[in-house]
Amino acid sequence: MTNRVYNFSAGPAVLPEEVLKQAADEMLNYQNSGMSVMEMSHRSKTYDNIIKTAEKDLRELMNIPDNYKVLFMQGGDHLQFSMVPINLLKNGVADYIVTGQWAKKAYAEAQKYGKINKVATSEDKTFSYIPDCSDLPISEDADYVYICENNTIYGTKFHTLPNTKGKELVSDMSSCFLSEPVDVTKYGLIHAGVQKNVGPAGVQIVIIREDLIREDLPEWCPTMLKYKTHADNDSLYNTPPAYGIYVCGLVFKWLKKMGGLSKMKELNEKKAKILYDFLDSSKLFKGTVEKSSRSLMNVPFVTGNEELDKKFIEEAKNAGLVQLKGHRSVGGMRASIYNAMPIEGVEALVEFMKKFEKENA
Ligand SMILES: *Cc1c(COP(=O)(O)O)cnc(C)c1O
Repeated sequence: MTNRVYNFSAGPAVLPEEVLKQAADEMLNYQNSGMSVMEMSHRSKTYDNIIKTAEKDLRELMNIPDNYKVLFMQGGDHLQFSMVPINLLKNGVADYIVTGQWAKKAYAEAQKYGKINKVATSEDKTFSYIPDCSDLPISEDADYVYICENNTIYGTKFHTLPNTKGKELVSDMSSCFLSEPVDVTKYGLIHAGVQKNVGPAGVQIVIIREDLIREDLPEWCPTMLKYKTHADNDSLYNTPPAYGIYVCGLVFKWLKKMGGLSKMKELNEKKAKILYDFLDSSKLFKGTVEKSSRSLMNVPFVTGNEELDKKFIEEAKNAGLVQLKGHRSVGGMRASIYNAMPIEGVEALVEFMKKFEKENA
């Protein structure tokens, strides 16, 4: 397709062109139903098949055990910052590891519901690393330990999960979901907004071990905020974000065709290496993250000169490399190189950076 740019946005982000084309082909008449998925009753047989197939493919991709529920939800990933404590606090105690803005927000929100401890943080160095989490002061009565596994804004990633000393691990996987294989059994709950690496904004995926889905929640708890409501109704308690789930389903099929998550990891490592190797050798650009904590998905970098950063972002945009501005809280640049970013996009970015470096030496 012509006129498509290389889109390095952190989210909503690039989707596989193949998937967009298929969605376009099926826009007016989905598989002889005579209508668009957008116009379809979520109680219809056709839609039931769409959501069931999406769940089945996701289970296959992530190797999700039968004792975990997969929930397609809405409310933004932000809603999970509230739903997690509301549903998981029993003793009323949880431990949070604060490695960036999203973990910080989740930590602040949870304060409303219990005694929430910050057991580790990397705020002392602007969240540029993942702290050592092998022996943290985990609370005896903690209901769970919370992490944001890939820090979208700062470009760090937990390459080793924290030692939770037997407590349930809850992970916000929004920006690394389906980027590599994970062992689901290590988690009590995984949540992810799909607009980073999986699909259109408006869908959140929650993977929760069944025994953590409770009935005995406080009287005041809204029906829509109970995982049980969604689990008991196979994500069809009310109208789900139906079209978004359909596109996620197409992306799951695409991932299967690409060879699954081990293959995606290989590709993502290859892409990230091109960019990191250049950053490590460049005289102008430099990465902002400690090497051992680097994310495969979000790569922040700077020139050290704000004016030059601005110039770079502007000229890159004119060259068809867009959305490279860093998050407003950190400045500089950030290239998000999710599953759907082709290797050619990363190569084009590095070529452009080399040219810019020469011109601005
Ligand atoms: C984007 C993002 C969120 C927030 O998602 P919304 O859907 O905008 O609420 C939460 N956590 C992480 C890691 C993110 O990248």
